[in-house]
Amino acid sequence: MLWLVLDGGHWGAWKQESTHGHLCLPRHEVFDAEATAAYEGLKAACNSAQAPYTQNLYVLLDNQEVAQQLQGSPRGSSQHTILAFQEVANAWPTRPLRCQAIQPGQVHVHWIPGHAGIAGNEQADEQAKKGARGILAGNEQADEQAKKGARSTPQTNTPPTRYAWAHRTLKEEFWQRFQAFWAENAPQQYQDLSIGLDKRPHELSLPRATLGRLLAARSGHGDFAQYHERFGHEDTKLECSCGHPKTPHHFYYCQKGHKASPHPWGSRQVDEILRSKSGTRDLHEWLQRSHFYRTICPAH
Ligand SMILES: [Zn+2]
Repeated sequence: MLWLVLDGGHWGAWKQESTHGHLCLPRHEVFDAEATAAYEGLKAACNSAQAPYTQNLYVLLDNQEVAQQLQGSPRGSSQHTILAFQEVANAWPTRPLRCQAIQPGQVHVHWIPGHAGIAGNEQADEQAKKGARGILAGNEQADEQAKKGARSTPQTNTPPTRYAWAHRTLKEEFWQRFQAFWAENAPQQYQDLSIGLDKRPHELSLPRATLGRLLAARSGHGDFAQYHERFGHEDTKLECSCGHPKTPHHFYYCQKGHKASPHPWGSRQVDEILRSKSGTRDLHEWLQRSHFYRTICPAH
């Protein structure tokens, strides 16, 4: 079994299962199949849309011999394939990157151990068993096919636990690294608003139009005087109809807006309205009632 995991970028860990199940073939043919799968999978990952936004690529195999040879001097079967894998892996740091924050990174090859003696395995094993009925059913079909193939020597089923363990471990590590990255690199406006990372941001449940207004107000990138001046936009209206400059927080202070519909947020500060779940909900309802950005502070 082989897993490829792209990690350390902006878009979350991305995995691709290149081979799965058990191959009922003599040992050396299993070796060749795994080596070929590693090489083909690596090429696909290098050419993927995620590669320019990703730091490291992890190649996880449960075949210890293949994992060792991919990292060292190949001997015996599939030497040519293993050398080709190493050539592509060595070129990984030179691929074009599309984001300054991403480091060139490396291709890491790891053997995924069996489940004996691994911390937390029992829990993962339970979870894997619950979710693995489909996979096991697939293995049974493969068994039937293998038996028809007569020349094969049946091997032990690959326990789904191995992937469950690797997947959970990598997800946790990715999340920790992303949190560290965000703590250092979050835009100043987000730091000022104390907006951290959330796996399920509450604002994503807002209607799209309000979400757009919210993100503009948080980031300062939108129909605002300073933003237009900074980028030299012409033919733009820099003031609200009340005469004050358009700013990210003007909706909160505009007297005309308040007259059109009283603010539902009481004494809460503008930062709270832009950050909290109840604040963003109140903002949505108020925008619906006041038509603020449509009639009072329109784009043109
Ligand atoms: Zn105004």
